[in-house]
Amino acid sequence: MNSTISITPWLNGKRWVYSITFDEALVELHRFAVPILAEHKVPGHIEAVAGHLGVVRQIGQSSYNGFHHMSGPQMREMLAMGWGVGNHSWSHLGVNAETADLELGKAKEVLEDAIGEAITVYCSCGDNTNMNPGALAACKKFGYLGAMSITDALNRPDDDDLLWMNRTFLHEQGYGPFFSAFDPFRNIALAKRDNGWIIDYCHCPLETAVHPNKDCSEAHLRERIETVVSEGGDEVWLARVEDAVDYRYTRRHAKIEPKGNGEYEISAPGLPSQVKRRIVTLELPSKTKTVHFDGKPVTIARKNDRALANVEISSQPRKIRID
Ligand SMILES: [Zn+2]
Repeated sequence: MNSTISITPWLNGKRWVYSITFDEALVELHRFAVPILAEHKVPGHIEAVAGHLGVVRQIGQSSYNGFHHMSGPQMREMLAMGWGVGNHSWSHLGVNAETADLELGKAKEVLEDAIGEAITVYCSCGDNTNMNPGALAACKKFGYLGAMSITDALNRPDDDDLLWMNRTFLHEQGYGPFFSAFDPFRNIALAKRDNGWIIDYCHCPLETAVHPNKDCSEAHLRERIETVVSEGGDEVWLARVEDAVDYRYTRRHAKIEPKGNGEYEISAPGLPSQVKRRIVTLELPSKTKTVHFDGKPVTIARKNDRALANVEISSQPRKIRID
């Protein structure tokens, strides 16, 4: 067999990816967001203020003062439901080279202790001033794999650097000067065309949005999720942020070397050790009948005319044989 194999842009050969994030990790998400997402099997992602776990919010003039930050055990419940957790800084104040030890370093440690899992995603608080070069250099130093901004743009499978990930606002109204209106279809057509990854951003949708430029209503959250699911069908990967980040890194580091006679070697040299999920989806020649990975048979998923197989790779070379 002489056709080549490749790695699909996203897991299971999905065409595009959808994730949704909720800044501040508020207990009040249980009123609407948690059940709406559960109904449609969409995993959410909470961005926790590490220095304020389990307390009533009282930060500056925040619209969410009086709401409740989740505690460690409450966040563990979210993980058990398939959600993910990011670090939204220690204090929700300035993150930069001078404050990074606390805002990114200690915050990561405290959060990891609280939830019992590694934290690999930083989510800028306030606005993108906390995505400054000092903050992002410290993200690298402390072992974060991704950093999320607020930029209404798509992420793509071949983007260079996940230390700047785009998030789209899921609000009643965008910021000035355009004051963009709510659009349940936002970025979906482009995501389909470009194998894009949409990450939505809001705080805590309730009957009416807490603030038009920071949130949407629960009805609009429902409309957005229903639109993603109906537009996406079998082509969308509903992913936790960490899972799509891990896939992106693993795919990017993967090297496939043809060895002749249907044999290949696959490895991921230099893959960062923080990448936990190292499964990639191989696109095989459509006539492939069997595939073996280090001598063991692997199930082939057939979709239309495609043949796909998932394998877990590492920095050490492993053998693929297709017949
Ligand atoms: Zn925030």
